[in-house]
Amino acid sequence: MRWTQTLIPTLREAPADAEILSHKLLLRAGLIRKLAGGVYTFLPVGVRALRQVEQIVREEMNRAGAVEVLMPAIQPPEIWQQSGRYETARDVLFKVKDSAAREWVLSPTAEEVITLIAAADINSYRQLPKNFYQISVKFRDEIRPRFGLMRAREFIMKDAYSFDTTDEAAQIAYQKMYDAYTRIFARCGLKTFPVEADTGVIGGKFSHEFMVPAETGENEVVYCEACGYAANLEKATSGIPKTAAREIGASPEKFPTPGVLTIEALSKEPYKVAANRQIKTLVFIVQDKPAIALVRGDDQLNETKFAAAVGTTIFRAATADEILAALGARPGSLGAVAATLKSKDIPVYADERLRGANDMTTGANDDGFHLRNVSIERDITVTQWRDLRTVIVGEPCVKCSNTLKIRRAIEVGHVFKLGTKYSEKMGALYLDEAGTRHPLVMGCYGIGVTRTLQAVIEQCNDKDGIIWPLSVAPYQVCITPLNVAPDNAGMQLAEKLYAELTAAGVEVILDDRDERPGVKFKDADLVGFPIRVSIGEKSLAKGEVEIKPRGGAMLAAKIADALERVLALVRE
Ligand SMILES: [Zn+2]
Repeated sequence: MRWTQTLIPTLREAPADAEILSHKLLLRAGLIRKLAGGVYTFLPVGVRALRQVEQIVREEMNRAGAVEVLMPAIQPPEIWQQSGRYETARDVLFKVKDSAAREWVLSPTAEEVITLIAAADINSYRQLPKNFYQISVKFRDEIRPRFGLMRAREFIMKDAYSFDTTDEAAQIAYQKMYDAYTRIFARCGLKTFPVEADTGVIGGKFSHEFMVPAETGENEVVYCEACGYAANLEKATSGIPKTAAREIGASPEKFPTPGVLTIEALSKEPYKVAANRQIKTLVFIVQDKPAIALVRGDDQLNETKFAAAVGTTIFRAATADEILAALGARPGSLGAVAATLKSKDIPVYADERLRGANDMTTGANDDGFHLRNVSIERDITVTQWRDLRTVIVGEPCVKCSNTLKIRRAIEVGHVFKLGTKYSEKMGALYLDEAGTRHPLVMGCYGIGVTRTLQAVIEQCNDKDGIIWPLSVAPYQVCITPLNVAPDNAGMQLAEKLYAELTAAGVEVILDDRDERPGVKFKDADLVGFPIRVSIGEKSLAKGEVEIKPRGGAMLAAKIADALERVLALVRE
């Protein structure tokens, strides 16, 4: 490709709304342009890098035995109602209306569509296992799109869906995808690490996310350097001890606490109830009904864990009026002691750290009063004990007791073991050898392709611009003749080298612009081509060209050796 033929509109400064480095570099290097918030055009060089990532994904999916399909981006809402996700995923579903006012869903993933295909066209164990994948445009109704391709309204994702006869077979499919993902990200030049993850609204049994460590990442990962334990903060647990047992009186004792509305206020004079001897009572409205979550006074409720407990993400904090109606008191004096609850039907979800705790203090459901001498298992009717608290840095590892750390990361891939959730709802059954029907056992596997591209930039750059790994570079080599006059010896050598490298299968761009050398070098560094070959009068006079790996030292090569030297670098 000749530079003058394509369009690489580099910028000296990034637009002000680009917040993170990789987003700035995408814009400055002329890879993308914004059409609207979270909606981008890929310009020629951006498309080339994107296609490289896609190709790696495609090759590794094929190698892992998956087969490519292409499903519609426009889907009828009825199939989302059938799976139950029309409600549970409603905060991200992008919906549009056609001219007849009929609603459609713009696909964020395709579990429903592929499960219907399986329901119709897979009937026998003899057709299994199967794994289908696609690389296509997806949509999210993102309220606050940001960070360029990281959190966009429209993006490209690879999604794959495996179908198996049994849990054990599904586990093999899961492991194949896990291994394929490890290879994909390594080939893209990304340092990733897998972490245990929450299964979210997609549902299912367990999952892993592939994370790229980055200060700007939107995920927080809890990890242990000693044993390798790693989990998304939404999912992570620690080996923190339970609440120490104490001797207490026979029954809870009500005492006045006028004006005390917080854990902190109760921990001060004259009450001096330590936060770790208090119970924090949180009231939510879950699908129109109140529910109570209890954590220790010094802990924070993890809402993702609470969502898993109640089985839906459709919940919100109750208003003061709703709390008054349900518990008979205002926030500040709330508790779950059974004898004080107006309604016995309100489910109570309690954090495991409170199990067995006694000598605890909690609100009395009477404004200005609390209860002490509370023994949880004696005085509170707990519907479900769960791990509900958020892990804090420095706590002991759940596996080896070493100190846990937390760091930020970008999620680039996600593997889920789904089980039979979708196949049961959508009637995807198969006949076993004995002729008995069973639901197909499923897994689903996503890679954010556009996000992966940006993650590469976030990880591979310096003050001058992007440093593409050879595997995903839009062009592997940039040839930069300093004089581009057709009759100039340097330009003629550039043309010859360009033809030879192209014939050898190398992706080359020839910077044939009539620009100052400084401008050309700056642009080549900004766009980040891995190898630059410069041909100027001075080196030509010595019978040499200059070869500069991006981010490395310049080396001089004899003209006769130039081709081989570049080929050696490309093949390294
Ligand atoms: Zn550990």
